[in-house]
Amino acid sequence: MLDSYTSQRENLVFSNGTDELIRIICRAFLGTGINAVLSSLSFPQYKRNAVMEGADIHEVPHVNGRHHIEKMIDAVDDNTRVIWICNPNNPTGEYVREQELIHLLNSVNQNVLVVCDEAYYEYVEARDFPNSIHLMKDYPNLISTRTFSKAYGLAALRIGYGIAHSDIIKILEAARETFNTSRLAQAAAAAALEDQNFYKRMSPKKPKRIRAFL
Ligand SMILES: *Cc1c(COP(=O)(O)O)cnc(C)c1O
Repeated sequence: MLDSYTSQRENLVFSNGTDELIRIICRAFLGTGINAVLSSLSFPQYKRNAVMEGADIHEVPHVNGRHHIEKMIDAVDDNTRVIWICNPNNPTGEYVREQELIHLLNSVNQNVLVVCDEAYYEYVEARDFPNSIHLMKDYPNLISTRTFSKAYGLAALRIGYGIAHSDIIKILEAARETFNTSRLAQAAAAAALEDQNFYKRMSPKKPKRIRAFL
């Protein structure tokens, strides 16, 4: 996981799958009078949870299944608190390039949370795919969400996680159910990390160790 990220606890939040983390993010950051910016053809939970929080949605038309980054920047206003980047995008398989993400991060105020939902991160081979964890050093308003549901095959056990600056994690922790992930799911996730043979069959990425530096 996390490219076997040598984790620092204060940079991680765990959830019952990324689905719950999307809900936690919306609970913590959205509300009446606030809006979220998202692409029109993307993972449906961003919209659903924004609606549940009573927030507005600034939905930007996709271009051939790709997020229209320039129009997403234009859709941001003073009441925007979250921008959703599904990368790679479910359901189209397209992805936002590193330079596009950097452009977006340079264009928005740092009080706007930029979420990179990287549920399919482990399958990516493209060299111009963003290294979101590296970018967090310069952009503390960036969060990466990942899951054990896809490359690790644990969808029914429900475990996902977010990687972000400790200030973001603190905000999310306040909205997280105290006993959200089950011991069974935690044990399965730990075992899945050890099961390198399974991982190698699923992912083109070599598991490598990188240091936490947030
Ligand atoms: C599958 C998926 C999720 C949610 O996965 P969980 O099983 O809840 O961890 C979130 N985002 C995207 C883009 C997905 O494809």
